[in-house]
Amino acid sequence: CGIVGYIGDKKAAPILFEGLSKLEYRGYDSAGIAVVEKGLLAVEKKEGRLMGLEEVVGDKFTATVGIGHTRWATHGKPSDVNSHPHLDNDGEIAVVHNGIIENYLTLKEMLIEKGHKFQSETDTEVVPHLIKGFYKGDLLEAVKEAVKHLEGAYALVVLHKNEPNRLICVRKDSPLVIGLGSGENFIASDIPAIIQYTKKTLILDDNEIAVVTKDKVEVMDKAGNHVDKKVLTVDWDP
Ligand code: GLU
Repeated sequence: CGIVGYIGDKKAAPILFEGLSKLEYRGYDSAGIAVVEKGLLAVEKKEGRLMGLEEVVGDKFTATVGIGHTRWATHGKPSDVNSHPHLDNDGEIAVVHNGIIENYLTLKEMLIEKGHKFQSETDTEVVPHLIKGFYKGDLLEAVKEAVKHLEGAYALVVLHKNEPNRLICVRKDSPLVIGLGSGENFIASDIPAIIQYTKKTLILDDNEIAVVTKDKVEVMDKAGNHVDKKVLTVDWDP
């Protein structure tokens, strides 16, 4: 139900936790984060409060890129395995998702036939598997291809262990905002998660995809055409 992403020079985990705590008002039953730690995806996720997860993570991650999620279960009970982020079978791609993938059963059957193994009961888990299926060394292209097959509502942030210099995000019928910092950028489902770090934001519109690096945000439509976004300055204080 809440999403946060960070890319920059600071340690990602504390920023993800701080951001997620600001989204607690949305309600949640589980929480999780994924970071690229020494070339590998490191994931911690747990049913229950954010505090519990924060204790488990402590300060063990030095990664400066990561994604975080608080879940409000719609498909699959609240549990550790059903918590986000969800991964592909090789543990290369991590995805956090708000919303509902309406056609996940059809996609899941198709993917299982192709040899994909599923861990969770969620609708979300089809997304990293689908992206993996389209992945040929360029995460943006794979995400663009994957979203063509998704029906329903989604805000997604995607991280690939081999592309730790960028986060890809996309939305349809679920909110997503990008916070512009200097030498760092933020992604969140709502402004309170990022306002203590920056007041400069871009509001993603439906079917827009953004490539977020620490120095740049590039927004495009689903065909890949550049979209000029207005920078909105939030005029309230945290
Ligand atoms: N439908 C997804 C799930 O149940 C995402 C729920 C959410 O938005 O938190 O895991």
